[in-house]
Amino acid sequence: MPELPEVETVVRGLQALLPNQTIIAVRLGKTDFIDNPADIEEILPSARIAGVRRHGKFIVLQLEKSTVHAAGAHSPTSAALARFHFIIHLGMTGQLIVLPAATPSVLHTHAWISLSNEKELRFIDPRRFGRMLILPETESDSVLGPLGTDPLEISIPEFQERLREKRARIKAVLLDQRVFRGMGNIYTDESLWRARIHPARLASSLKPREVLDLHRAMRRILLEAIRLGGSSISDYVNAEGLPGEFQIRHCVYQREGKKCSRCGARIRRMIVAGRSSYFCPRCQRAPRQRHR
Ligand SMILES: [Zn+2]
Repeated sequence: MPELPEVETVVRGLQALLPNQTIIAVRLGKTDFIDNPADIEEILPSARIAGVRRHGKFIVLQLEKSTVHAAGAHSPTSAALARFHFIIHLGMTGQLIVLPAATPSVLHTHAWISLSNEKELRFIDPRRFGRMLILPETESDSVLGPLGTDPLEISIPEFQERLREKRARIKAVLLDQRVFRGMGNIYTDESLWRARIHPARLASSLKPREVLDLHRAMRRILLEAIRLGGSSISDYVNAEGLPGEFQIRHCVYQREGKKCSRCGARIRRMIVAGRSSYFCPRCQRAPRQRHR
């Protein structure tokens, strides 16, 4: 599933390809993952793409569209600029790729957005756990607002405070999009391993030193993963359809039974926060059992 580094990689690719393009037409296939397909079909054509940014695991295309108000009895003809956010979540298997318009479509393509440079932005998603919607810019906070802080932007004091107030397992807290937007299973397990913290520890039980180590580990791993174009585990590819390379650097994720590269113990898997969690039983000590 694409997480922060994969989505950031897609966004950087789109930033090089989309700004200042005008959308000529849009065609939708299956729409069960789209909040408002009729609005997308109505608003996208003739909109200009002003920018692309990431918000957690969401991709936001900033659109501008001029709306002309006809002259009335008391007002001259006026042109106004309406701004929209076209919001896309890749879900488990979504891909957002820019291709020459003549490229044959692959199976599971659900959106074709043709651009003024004769290229096409296509959304491909075999499992359709992704999401797509368009909102006036002023309303996009209804979707993006509840998300927590970006782990690449969070300060150490804020990070300490977020963890101190949580009586939940550290793994669950890192995955909670309302606390930190953009973390997922891969980078949570890798960060906890690097910081030598067991995924089942309570967030509020971490010592100040461990909190600092985790903050640093998380940043380093996310930045390194972005540098390598993300991790291609299943269907993930960048905006040009190419896979990432960070998966070869994984130290614990999906490495059950393999040796820990730090101490040689066998990597284990357990369910924490309802998710498969990979960890080294020697480097990452389990929380102490309470004596009652
Ligand atoms: Zn180890």
